[in-house]
Amino acid sequence: MFPDSPAQRHEDLVRRDRSVLWHPFANLALWEREDPPVVASGEGVWLTDVDGHRMLDATASLWVNLLGHRHPALDRALSSQAGQIAHSTFLGATHEGAIRLAERLSALAPAGLTRVFYSDNGSTAVEIAMKLAFLFQRHRRIRQGRRVPATFFSLERGYHGDTLGTVGAGGIDRFHQIFGPLVRPSVTAPAPDCAHCPAGLLRSTCRLECAAMAENLLEAHREDLVAVLVEPLLQAAGGMIVWPAGYLARLARACRNLEIPLIADEVATGFGRTGTLFACEQEGVSPDFMAVGKALTGGYLPLAATLVRESVYEAVREDPGTFYHGHSYTANPLACRVALTTLDCLEAEDLLAAIPEKRERIREAWRSLDGAPFVENLRFLGLIAALDLRKRDGSALIDPVPLTVLREKARKKGLLIRPLGSTLYLIPPLSVTPEEAGLMARLLADTLMEGDRDGLFGRTS
Ligand code: PMP
Repeated sequence: MFPDSPAQRHEDLVRRDRSVLWHPFANLALWEREDPPVVASGEGVWLTDVDGHRMLDATASLWVNLLGHRHPALDRALSSQAGQIAHSTFLGATHEGAIRLAERLSALAPAGLTRVFYSDNGSTAVEIAMKLAFLFQRHRRIRQGRRVPATFFSLERGYHGDTLGTVGAGGIDRFHQIFGPLVRPSVTAPAPDCAHCPAGLLRSTCRLECAAMAENLLEAHREDLVAVLVEPLLQAAGGMIVWPAGYLARLARACRNLEIPLIADEVATGFGRTGTLFACEQEGVSPDFMAVGKALTGGYLPLAATLVRESVYEAVREDPGTFYHGHSYTANPLACRVALTTLDCLEAEDLLAAIPEKRERIREAWRSLDGAPFVENLRFLGLIAALDLRKRDGSALIDPVPLTVLREKARKKGLLIRPLGSTLYLIPPLSVTPEEAGLMARLLADTLMEGDRDGLFGRTS
């Protein structure tokens, strides 16, 4: 039985949550003191908590939601599929939804990605790409009488998931500090982060020296590398790092010249977030492997996929003959059906074409932040907008408490955000209206101004 008032209900649920649950990526001591929203429902880009307070879903529920909450077509697809079957195993059996979705993904993806292997989250989709790249290289190198490589190449601050394989291959320092003894690290190149140029250059004099650094490392480690693993155009969880134009194409060219497979981790960037269906398209890159997840089902259900070239399938078919990998919920029919409908709606609602206008609304609303001494590095890509916070004296904002305070302030104003360290960002569902996109940006700017007035970024004198 729930207590009577919404406030009591909220309090009761939070208390019970605290006593039994463990939330992902939560600083436990801080979390135990927080008063989190208890989400009850959603509609479009809005979430409503049990207190009846409405909040704009400014992270698209951590980059998964594409078409808004409770999209009528997705709701219908889900219930129609539930009326047939929710799940049956994909080991030794198949179903129409999985087949149609694989055909569709393969047709939409960059050229040459003809085989689809399903899983149910982004980390496993990447890990599958890593395992398949290893099998492919093993097959090729043994026939060439060369050493079988066992190291990946990735970028500093690259995030590819939280399984041990993807932690090792990724470049998140904190993960390595903690789980280092359990994982196999990659060879890493500096992130192509123009705000902190690894070559110490300015944008005006940039000749992609960061790409040359990566090329030199690739050349030096060529014999040892299984594959290059990157998040194309945008290193999302590592701090919303937007790459300089041309970096991805240079990296892909180097991979081709050195015969090192390229894995594009499009888990965050896929399905329109960066302005094109896949980020790779913007630089004409066709990777050898592509991992997708998150928005594949419009944010409704866990489904992920690893797309590979036919030559990978053929290599594994020959040796070892079986890919020893699979999950209980591989190719879940509910998820496949919703994913197909998501792709239909993405096309029918012409959401990619509408991105520039919405981005402009965000840019306009953030003009109020121009020259603010506690904001730097405003950046935009597709419908992604990000900025970094610093203290008024120019030093780094390291303490997590001001960020928690900002999050609370934003929530009160009706905006649900989740800072990445001192990086704040907006990644709305693509279905956001221009007005809602502007409102999100304005509420975030207001939150920052208020935080500044409260001294969160230090005092002026
Ligand atoms: N790769 C990238 C680029 C991601 O952004 C994420 C999730 N933030 C993952 C992989 C892992 O996906 P998941 O959380 O679904 O395992």
